[in-house]
Amino acid sequence: MKYYSTRDKNNIVSSKEAIIKGISEEGGLFVPESFPSFPSIEELINCNYKELAYKVLSLYLTDYTEEELLSAVDGAYDEKFRSENIVEIKSTENAHFLELFHGPTLAFKDMALTILPYLLKAAIKDKNIDKEIVILTATSGDTGKAALEGFKDVEGINVIVFYPHGGVSHIQRLQMVTQRGSNTFVSAIRGNFDDAQSGVKEIFADEDFNELLEKQGYILSSANSINIGRLIPQIIYYVYGYIELLRKQAISKGEKINIVVPTGNFGNILAAYYAKRMGLPVNRLICASNNNKVLSDFFNTGIYNKERDLLLTSSPSMDILVSSNLERFLYHLSDDENLIREKMTDLKEKGKYHWDSFREDIYANYTNEEETAYWIKEVYERENYIIDPHTAVAYGVYMKYLEAEKDSSKTLIASTASPFKFHKKVLTSIGQTPTKDDFIDLKKISRLSNEGLPKQLGELETLPELHKTVCGKDEMRNIILRFLKVNKDD
Ligand SMILES: *Cc1c(COP(=O)(O)O)cnc(C)c1O
Repeated sequence: MKYYSTRDKNNIVSSKEAIIKGISEEGGLFVPESFPSFPSIEELINCNYKELAYKVLSLYLTDYTEEELLSAVDGAYDEKFRSENIVEIKSTENAHFLELFHGPTLAFKDMALTILPYLLKAAIKDKNIDKEIVILTATSGDTGKAALEGFKDVEGINVIVFYPHGGVSHIQRLQMVTQRGSNTFVSAIRGNFDDAQSGVKEIFADEDFNELLEKQGYILSSANSINIGRLIPQIIYYVYGYIELLRKQAISKGEKINIVVPTGNFGNILAAYYAKRMGLPVNRLICASNNNKVLSDFFNTGIYNKERDLLLTSSPSMDILVSSNLERFLYHLSDDENLIREKMTDLKEKGKYHWDSFREDIYANYTNEEETAYWIKEVYERENYIIDPHTAVAYGVYMKYLEAEKDSSKTLIASTASPFKFHKKVLTSIGQTPTKDDFIDLKKISRLSNEGLPKQLGELETLPELHKTVCGKDEMRNIILRFLKVNKDD
């Protein structure tokens, strides 16, 4: 399997090269040259998560050896997940929640960020790269922690995370500043997420700075969701979800299901689309937005317009105006690199672009803040099951879909974060008053939901804060050099 850039079909790389590079030189994203077919159900029906993971990965990452893939799968999907099955399904009256939040940081980003370090490490070794990798990430909360945890103590790799000072939840901040590991570095930056994000992008594009680092034995890399090393592992859980529904006899063989995904950067739903293209029986993909409804507007009007204010919502991991992975989807629809280049130039220069036709039937809609709270409460009262605000956004859109389409297909809803991580919104939604003490609130959620408090959150109360750096946007380069102990004048 080869990969090429969405903006230049002549830029062809292997999966290892694509994973090392992250993004292609002309700014395009790497896509697989074709979609391998889904193995037969008979071959999958008795597989556990790891076995499925190996089967899916081996179809895409063909330049990895069997041994490399098996050890990656083994290293990633182990006891650091709270659930022995890695992913759980909670079935309710009208939907099946695919719980993707049982990993070490309690968000679905763990599904890929636990395995990416192994894939990256094997690729670096194979390509004889004698430099240390520096994973540089700006985060609005979840990605940073998942990257720190995933890459912690991985030899030959350092991870540096910048987060907006005052711009992440108290729990998210604690998760990051208490991070252990000799190769993990965290700094707050005075500014919002956009400042952190644009600061990181500028550093990636700064040739002089990259050269300076390279002379000192470092190369920059990204753990962002544009890396195919994050995208491909996300296909696994949709296959697992389908097989589990079959095993539970919730569906019959070949029966088509809907998949609802709370969407930000379009990575998670794109993985579901890949599963569909591989032959997984999928009826509709349902794209759920919060108040930042750029995608919902796009699928309903054909106009992608990022020229609007970014709104802060209770589902912060979806507060995003440029969904990078949409580029891949449009490429797969059109198979036309020139068209993609044209649209992405429009987006950069005019802030918007127009797309004429959708061959792929995606239903898209959004859930506002009030509706999000309503659905958290409704599901809790009816099912005694607490969902997080991101999952509630997905559920709200699914309710609109049912109303509009009267479709009785069985439906999987991607449940992307643990409700414990967003305890304030969850408690107010179900009619409780949050206190000033996060840990009292967490224990309350634990009582109300009959779910044990995840130990990763409980222990935050007593862990020492190890990362205290705060910097301005113009100091990021110096902070990186300081973290890496590089002397500029060497
Ligand atoms: C990242 C994230 C999303 C959005 O996923 P994308 O792949 O960016 O569309 C949704 N929910 C949670 C909790 C997330 O962390």
